[in-house]
Amino acid sequence: MARGLHHWTREARRHLPALRTWRADFHREPELSNHEVRTQEKVLRALNGLGIPARTYGKDLHGVVGLVETERAGPVVALRADMDALPITEETGAPFASRTPGTMHACGHDVHMACLLGAGAVLQRNRSRLRGAFKLVFQPAEEDGHRGGALPLLERGAFENPHVDYVLGQHVASEVPLGTIGWKKGPLMAAPDEFEIRVRGTPGHASTPHQGPDAVLVAAEIITGLQALVSRVRNPVDPVVVTVGTVHGGTRHNIIPSEVVLTGTVRTVDPKTHAMAEQWIRRRVRLLAASMGASVKIRYQSGYPVLVNDALATQHVVDALSTELGAERLTELKHPGMGAEDFARYLERVPGTFLRLGVGTPTMRASSHSSTFLPAEPTLVIGAATLVAGALGLQAGSGR
Ligand SMILES: [Zn+2]
Ligand SMILES: [Zn+2]
Repeated sequence: MARGLHHWTREARRHLPALRTWRADFHREPELSNHEVRTQEKVLRALNGLGIPARTYGKDLHGVVGLVETERAGPVVALRADMDALPITEETGAPFASRTPGTMHACGHDVHMACLLGAGAVLQRNRSRLRGAFKLVFQPAEEDGHRGGALPLLERGAFENPHVDYVLGQHVASEVPLGTIGWKKGPLMAAPDEFEIRVRGTPGHASTPHQGPDAVLVAAEIITGLQALVSRVRNPVDPVVVTVGTVHGGTRHNIIPSEVVLTGTVRTVDPKTHAMAEQWIRRRVRLLAASMGASVKIRYQSGYPVLVNDALATQHVVDALSTELGAERLTELKHPGMGAEDFARYLERVPGTFLRLGVGTPTMRASSHSSTFLPAEPTLVIGAATLVAGALGLQAGSGR
């Protein structure tokens, strides 16, 4: 269903006033993960206004799935936007800046939701000429970090009735220039694991360190040992990041404490490496502690999976976007990023791709999760058109 350069962009531009209003409305009233109550109401109201039927998935999950149906059989494509904001005090000076001190849409999820509503508006308006169906998935709690909103939505059937064949999502990216789309086949984002290591030693006077293992020294060995694991055990072309973010222990300069607690994160971009990471860390930490006579308790928690874009589906989206935006507007990303996204959960179930929606300009270089992050207005039309053209590209590439 390719219709030539800028066809869907022109269609999306018809909805610019609505896109602006939706975005400003979401941005003004940000809500943290798992608290997206007003946001859910707004999404439901907007979909209702567009004549798009929608459903929710329980009081404790603030997601919404709208369904654009056509008269003709064809593949079902899910388009996803996340809904939650961050605990940051806004400093953008925007006329629609957050009215809630300490909470801000600093990750662009307000833009993602507006773009998805815009895409819904375009699809709904054109549905007599389209086939299959389009699920508009508004997902809460992406920033939650552990469970996220994607998994409960999937568990409660968001990708069934009708069954979803492909999934497409996008995230604003300030490292990609405004007006362009970053894409990549294979791994795009990391699996972020978390650990806590409790090192137990023998407490005592600082002047008699020979009386038992010193938890501070053992902790120091573990911190350096973990870096050696990354740099000397892992293949350097398969990136792994281990960062110890907190070190807590001790009360006074001349007392050896009984315990030091380390916490940190492990990031991997290969699902096989991810599957092994916990074992490596546990083994290395135990060996280091044992070699110094200390005991350790390790708590290790896997976060979101590695986000892996399906190669074929990505190609079909890229082809469609080249026709829509022009090939010069598409940038192949060379490397995966070490950030994480629970869009990965959808890609574990159905083929699809996650795009980087460029918002970088000479004046807007702030990265997401910063108090001055504010994508420019043209992002709204480009993002909506990208979702529509990409969804149709996935259908066209399906071979049915
Ligand atoms: Zn974020
Ligand atoms: Zn985000």
